[in-house]
Amino acid sequence: MSQNNQPSRYDDSNIFAKMLNGDIPYHKVYEDDKTLAFMDIMPQAKGHVLVIPKQKAVDLADLQPEYAAAVLATSQKVMAAQRQVFDREGVIQMQLNGAQAGQTVFHYHIHLLPSSIHELGRHAVTQADSDELATIAKQLAEAIDNQ
Ligand code: AMP
Repeated sequence: MSQNNQPSRYDDSNIFAKMLNGDIPYHKVYEDDKTLAFMDIMPQAKGHVLVIPKQKAVDLADLQPEYAAAVLATSQKVMAAQRQVFDREGVIQMQLNGAQAGQTVFHYHIHLLPSSIHELGRHAVTQADSDELATIAKQLAEAIDNQ
């Protein structure tokens, strides 16, 4: 994983760092040399995906421009797949900076939620069924493969 200019701010034991190190399982949607996209384990909407950079960035303040471009490019792929798989236009892009904003995992991530601001579920509360997440991840991954 790429270093940033403030490595002391970044805690290597955060859950997304463990995913990038291959230490814990997740439902992968897409991966390239700079990013990883996977299913949110406590989705606020069906098909809730997280996109992370392979850079040690706590939040937006740390994100290097090349990784910012990469996470947006991956987010575009994921959103196109969500629109196709769920047959809906509406997708929320959300990203929290700092505990005060509600951030709970301190590795930069973009939330992509097939939902509406008027219907959004509660943040990181209810764990989803793993088989259902695996099925959705496969559908989204196939849609990205076919783009
Ligand atoms: P935030 O509060 O913006 O930092 O969002 C962190 C997100 O990570 C929440 O939506 C959680 O549901 C999600 N999350 C936490 N642990 C995991 C995990 N092991 N796998 C996938 N998503 C996770």
